Amino acid sequence: MRFGGHVSINGGLERAIERGIEITADCIQIFVAAPQRWLKANHSDESVAKFIAARQESGIGPVLLHGPYLINLGTTDEELRKKSIDSLVSQLTWADRLNAMGVVFHVGSSGSGGHEAGMSFAVDALNEVLARSPGNAPLLLETTAGGTNSIGGRFEHLGELIRRAGETSRLQVCLDTCHVFAAGYPICSRDELDRTIEEFDRAVGLGRLTALHLNDSRDPFGSHRDRHANVGEGEIGLEGFGTVVNHPALRDIPGFLEVPGFEDKGPDAENLRRLRALVE
Ligand SMILES: [Zn+2]
Ligand SMILES: [Zn+2]
Repeated sequence: MRFGGHVSINGGLERAIERGIEITADCIQIFVAAPQRWLKANHSDESVAKFIAARQESGIGPVLLHGPYLINLGTTDEELRKKSIDSLVSQLTWADRLNAMGVVFHVGSSGSGGHEAGMSFAVDALNEVLARSPGNAPLLLETTAGGTNSIGGRFEHLGELIRRAGETSRLQVCLDTCHVFAAGYPICSRDELDRTIEEFDRAVGLGRLTALHLNDSRDPFGSHRDRHANVGEGEIGLEGFGTVVNHPALRDIPGFLEVPGFEDKGPDAENLRRLRALVE
């Protein structure tokens, strides 16, 4: 498995590659724009060129973009849906520009409209985003911890969205270990993980699983909370991660850390060392 983590682009896109090297990442995930705001990414051609050159030199890859947290494709609020669609179109443009593997994001929640309406809004939104994005970069729907009205806490939600949006190869899935564990999918022993992977395969298709978020969980199994912990410091634990990183269905998929880090600076070399030490 290629192991990496989420790194900051503060100071310029190319700084993300330097930070990746510092923490010994094989692959990195970045926000191209502030994740808590609707601001569109804005980087000069020079910055993009530096990023691409630094990346080539470092051998770091793949690069994954994470979309803003504000995105909600399932909401009844038309204005919010429109902003979400525009934002994803912009993110996909950046993914192509930076030669990233795609854009991962949280689909959102259905709110007062109910689950069926939320799913229909989300299907229409996905179709519109892809129709307006002529490039090749895919969207990666992220598994969520499955809070109230959340879309993506069950694998079947994601499978249904992908089927109804025409099963294009540009719709893929990112599985977050913290989120699926909190959503109530057991992953810690080989038997449990086998069953969860089988369930994923039936609902979505394993071929669509193209990225992993490797986060431990501060909260217990089935808690529907999505607070991340450092590898081995949460409820999944080192044994659970040993199961995940050695599973034959997962070990060729890039794994990205989104953890607090041991110095509260985000994913770090120690978290990566712990993961690598588990590989058999
Ligand atoms: Zn995420
Ligand atoms: Zn995640």
